[in-house]
Amino acid sequence: MSDGARYEAVIGIECHVELKTSSKMFCGCRNEFGGEPNRQLCPVCLALPGALPVPNRLAIEHVVRAGLAFGAQIPVASKFDRKNYFYPDMPKNYQISQYDLPLTTGGVVRYRRADGSEGSCRLTRIHLEEDTGKSTHLGSGDGRIAGSTHSLVDFNRAGVPLMECVGEPDIRTPEDAVAFLEFLRLTFLYLGISDVKMEEGSLRCDANVSIRPAGTSAFGTKTEIKNMNSFRSVARALEYEIARQRRVLAEGGRIVQETRGWDESEGVTHSMRSKEQAHDYRYFPDPDLVPLTLDGAWIEGLRGSVGFTPIAAYDRLQRGGGLSVAQVRQIVEDPALTRFLLETLERKPGDDAFAQATANWLLSDVARILGREGISIDGQELLTPANLGELVELASGGTVTSKTAKELLERMMAGGGSPKEIVAREGLAQLSDPSAIASVVDEVIAANDKSVADYKAGKENAIKALVGQVMKVSKGKANPQLAESLLRERLAQS
Ligand SMILES: [Zn+2]
Repeated sequence: MSDGARYEAVIGIECHVELKTSSKMFCGCRNEFGGEPNRQLCPVCLALPGALPVPNRLAIEHVVRAGLAFGAQIPVASKFDRKNYFYPDMPKNYQISQYDLPLTTGGVVRYRRADGSEGSCRLTRIHLEEDTGKSTHLGSGDGRIAGSTHSLVDFNRAGVPLMECVGEPDIRTPEDAVAFLEFLRLTFLYLGISDVKMEEGSLRCDANVSIRPAGTSAFGTKTEIKNMNSFRSVARALEYEIARQRRVLAEGGRIVQETRGWDESEGVTHSMRSKEQAHDYRYFPDPDLVPLTLDGAWIEGLRGSVGFTPIAAYDRLQRGGGLSVAQVRQIVEDPALTRFLLETLERKPGDDAFAQATANWLLSDVARILGREGISIDGQELLTPANLGELVELASGGTVTSKTAKELLERMMAGGGSPKEIVAREGLAQLSDPSAIASVVDEVIAANDKSVADYKAGKENAIKALVGQVMKVSKGKANPQLAESLLRERLAQS
């Protein structure tokens, strides 16, 4: 019975996402990361006697749009509850959250793994709450409370709107957990509702893990893992915890339901505390906040504002088959680049070769110039989907040489303009007329005795030098393949 391979893991993810709003959830204080400690405060977020909270409409809209992006239901009735909270980083001693009537219920997160295959995980709910302040423990050397001499509390973050997404235990592998999180994160990025930066704490996640004999349906006892600070640590922590639970069972032990912290440097999870149950929090409706009734027309308006999601973009870019899995992933990770590409592709719907050529331009030459100039695709206005589309057509159709096309791109990104107009105005079209190139070829043969002699002596590389000369004399316009074949023809005759 010690064969760990006969167990499968059951994983459920919970995410906390700080929402992008100008003010906090229930007061007018600024919602901004960093800043001097305890400067973004008021009587409401400090819970001074008599202060009354007012909900932030934009934060509610953000959560509803997040739910709609995943096909969740938006109940008409919702409300805020008080969750009793026992730590000093919350001045109220309770947190305003949502208990039995969350803003959204259900929904499905579809995701793609690194190899392009598809998976999905249902959502239980998404609700809205307020973030806590931040404690810093000093004197212990490693930031932990154990062994510390004193603690500092910064309330700037207290009251920042926080969205909690609770996933169903549909995930079976650490790889899928990461893919799920990636698409969750990207969706919020596309919606523009959060910065979703794990390093700044605007995206935080916990994972519930249990194991059970493969082929059974009853859940085993789960542990909850906290303190995972990157997607990589999520994968490592889950791998560690699954192996630990297998080992415990193989040795005849029992899994204890508890919260375990991930230790990044040691690469282990360690027991933090026994898991709280919902009744420990003694939820009750917040008497300062009236229940919410969501208007159907308002919800429909938000549905119309969701726009396309990363999974929809992924599906669309992969459908044609013109792009590799790696290219699709690279593009989808950048909402602005995805928008730019999709808009360019509207020029020639269903044309795989055009899609592939456009993606190649964006990921290579355009990306190189943007990187060199230190700007992003949406941080410039000179290159537009319309003029990039024209350039791709000019280059793919052979109207200009690849050398001319690259120069055109540089000029478009420095000064804008339609590449077609530049080509027509400056006579940059590729020379594909043999008679026009022939005179240049003759000129080059006459002026390059050494290369001609080398070629005739069997030095194959000499032909490249001669083609280079033809390109130079024609100012990059000669069709290089045609130039080479004409050169070989003439040299064989002479
Ligand atoms: Zn405030």
